[in-house]
Amino acid sequence: MSAGVVVVIEHDRGEISSASLEALTAARALTNGEPLIAAVCGGTDALAAACAGYGANEVVSLNHEVLNDYAPEAWGEAVSQLVSARSPRVVMACGTDRGNEVMAHVASVLDLPMVANCLTIEAAAADWSMTRQQWGGSLLEDATLSAPTKLVTVAHHATDMVPSEVTETRTAFEPTLDASFTRTRVIDRVVREAGVTLTTARVVVGGGRGVGSPEGFATLEELAGLLNGKVGCSRAVTNNGWRNHADQVGQTGTRIAPDIYLACGISGAIQHWVGAMASKKILAINTDREANMVSRADYAVIGDLHKVIPAITAEIQRRRG
Ligand code: FAD
Repeated sequence: MSAGVVVVIEHDRGEISSASLEALTAARALTNGEPLIAAVCGGTDALAAACAGYGANEVVSLNHEVLNDYAPEAWGEAVSQLVSARSPRVVMACGTDRGNEVMAHVASVLDLPMVANCLTIEAAAADWSMTRQQWGGSLLEDATLSAPTKLVTVAHHATDMVPSEVTETRTAFEPTLDASFTRTRVIDRVVREAGVTLTTARVVVGGGRGVGSPEGFATLEELAGLLNGKVGCSRAVTNNGWRNHADQVGQTGTRIAPDIYLACGISGAIQHWVGAMASKKILAINTDREANMVSRADYAVIGDLHKVIPAITAEIQRRRG
């Protein structure tokens, strides 16, 4: 007999993510009187208390040395073993990159379907009906989930975090993990610089494959510097190793919302667009007048960015004297 709703808790070396508090809040609507169980890889007392503050009746610490920092395969395997041992009715996480990644591993290990990024869940019947978002919210899809164990993630930012203090029990689970589960794990961290970031910049100068090389970004850097802005890029650029992933704009990068986005040599694929569409104004610089970015932009210059950007920079410098 399966029972209970398990929420997989995301944390960064012991600091709970607000996304997990959203997931706990959303999961409370699905418990049907059954316990709400927080599954915490490498759990601590502080994490247990945080989960109890959002309604977790039981906080299970999954204990193994490889679980203390993020390791998606190991986290997924550990949660799968917990699910096999406890047979919950529902396993949920927040639809962040990490939440979806861990749940995808759980689904793969247990050979169960998983529905990601749900906005609404109708759970009254045995088969659930849900609406989920894809492509950063530009596509909504209706789905039905009929598996006896429901694996879901809830769309990030779709649920307000609402505290609900309960007295929790704390238990431990010791998964069996070997070295093969640490193939993907955190080995280093890049500390983001202070000050203006891609997320907060009022001007972003983005470069795509059209920039042509890492060195080609020097003119974009110069222009961004003049405008107190930041340089962003497309995934074609990070795939080529021209810039760090921290600079990538898009579905699998940063979502930006500057006053103006100068999109240079970027075609405007949907995955890039979802990260750029909150920009108040967009100026596209592209040799192809048919490029998506050109059609969607407020302004466009049809031309070679290697000539257009230095011309803009020179004009700004001339006007500033
Ligand atoms: P291209 O599509 O090759 O476009 C290059 C553009 O440069 C063209 O429009 C061309 O006309 C123009 N150009 C060439 N030379 C010049 C010149 N000298 N001057 C001016 N213009 C010039 N992409 C992202 O950006 N961010 C994401 O987060 C992201 N996530 C993804 C997630 C998934 C699951 C998948 C499948 C894809 C994702 N992508 C993402 C990739 C995306 O689909 C595109 O492949 C990518 O955005 C293309 O990058 P681009 O526009 O730089 O390159």
